[in-house]
Amino acid sequence: MGTLFKNGTLVTASDMLRADVLVEGEIVTLIGLDLPADGHTVVDCTGKYLLPGGIDVHTHLDLPFGGTFSNDDFDVGHKAAAFGGTTAHIDFVIQPKGGSLHDGLATWRKKAAPAQIDYAFHMAVTDLRQDVLEEIPSLAAEGITSLKLFMAYKNVFQVDDKTLFRAMQVAAEHGMIVMVHAENGDVENTLTPALLAAGKTEPKYHAASRPPEIEGEATNRAVVMAGLANCPLYVVHMTCDESIEALRRGRALGYPVMGETCVQYFFLTVEEHMAQPDFHGSKYVCSPPIRTKHDQQVLWRAVKDGTLQVISTDHCDFWFEGGKGPWQEWSKAHNGGDWVEYEAQDPSYRRPGKELGLGNFSKIPNGLPAIEDRMMMVWDGGVNSGILTPSRFVELNCTNPAKIFGMYPKKGTIAVGSDADIVVWDPNAKHTFSAKTHHMRTDYNLFEGHTATGKPVMVYQRGNKLVDGDQWFGKNGNGQFIKRSTHAPVL
Ligand SMILES: [Zn+2]
Repeated sequence: MGTLFKNGTLVTASDMLRADVLVEGEIVTLIGLDLPADGHTVVDCTGKYLLPGGIDVHTHLDLPFGGTFSNDDFDVGHKAAAFGGTTAHIDFVIQPKGGSLHDGLATWRKKAAPAQIDYAFHMAVTDLRQDVLEEIPSLAAEGITSLKLFMAYKNVFQVDDKTLFRAMQVAAEHGMIVMVHAENGDVENTLTPALLAAGKTEPKYHAASRPPEIEGEATNRAVVMAGLANCPLYVVHMTCDESIEALRRGRALGYPVMGETCVQYFFLTVEEHMAQPDFHGSKYVCSPPIRTKHDQQVLWRAVKDGTLQVISTDHCDFWFEGGKGPWQEWSKAHNGGDWVEYEAQDPSYRRPGKELGLGNFSKIPNGLPAIEDRMMMVWDGGVNSGILTPSRFVELNCTNPAKIFGMYPKKGTIAVGSDADIVVWDPNAKHTFSAKTHHMRTDYNLFEGHTATGKPVMVYQRGNKLVDGDQWFGKNGNGQFIKRSTHAPVL
């Protein structure tokens, strides 16, 4: 017997209509009006919306960064995601220095062993040697159809233009998509030491070291190169007028270029958040940085008018007050890893976090907690304000992510034959964000104290209930790897 979602309003990227949805096994088998109960388990959805499970295509779970690891992993991070209505995500595998792409993949497959929600991988290429170029086609066959390259992080991840262009040519040839972190790393690498030498060491100077112009410049460069290579390009975490204009120009020229922004860029500013005293500004340090009220308006317009196709998070969370207990000794003895085991020993123990950058903004681990809050914040700020229709909300958070990254229509919509990833969304329920109640493993919330209207009340993945109110029903190992297809559409 199946599960019958009755009396709800089905919202897809194209429609919003009264319909009952029948799930049998792991998929949606029937959508219709007043379907008979027929012994199925009935979920009464009166007054609720049925949305496809959210897909967050930009996450960094258990990521090594600047002497520590991001807190949320494929266990805790998955639970947090599902409580926020997200049932699938794509994480970035990092090619290790001197290693192959498959070396990185082996590491990430191990990280994903406890998965509770479905997941896929992008490949972040950090060293594009000849042997690595030759390795790329085999990735596509394994369902990893997107390559990420960095135009930022000089001397760490940054690739030169020739490497980026070559990667675009190879990707285009094999039906893959290239993603770029677009900031001019050479300029940043010149500004940062100058700021530090002038005694400008507080968190807010992180933003000064990465001005919007260097994001706009790098975005334009990537957009033009993608146009020349005729390679589908997806610019991650776009934040400002300068880069949005570059993308808009490329799209107007017919280049196969797309972009995303992340939830935090709609709501946080340098002035109000990064400039907070007593190092509190470090909570908001990510790259590219949060910007201004003006840029927030630009981003809302860009998701409304179709310049941007996706809203994600770049979720990568760290303790604000980390580095507690004998972590130096542990790190040495365990080769830097095993932080979950370390923290399990004593409730007061914490791996290093944002405090690594006290007195030097360039050493603050980059990243924010957002995977749980994306859907509720975007609904509250976008749908309740009238900027986005519920259908456009679904398109930006669920459908376009699935289409662009080769998972549609298995994921990203509620249709006959699709995976039954279903969120029962109560548009009138209120949710107050707080580190005391959220499920992410970190000691602060970006939106602490803010109350949003509209939240998930039940969440299903492939027909299995994960969330019902405050209760968790997921199981480790139930999350599955999503094998993605090549030649996905350019939207
Ligand atoms: Zn990222």
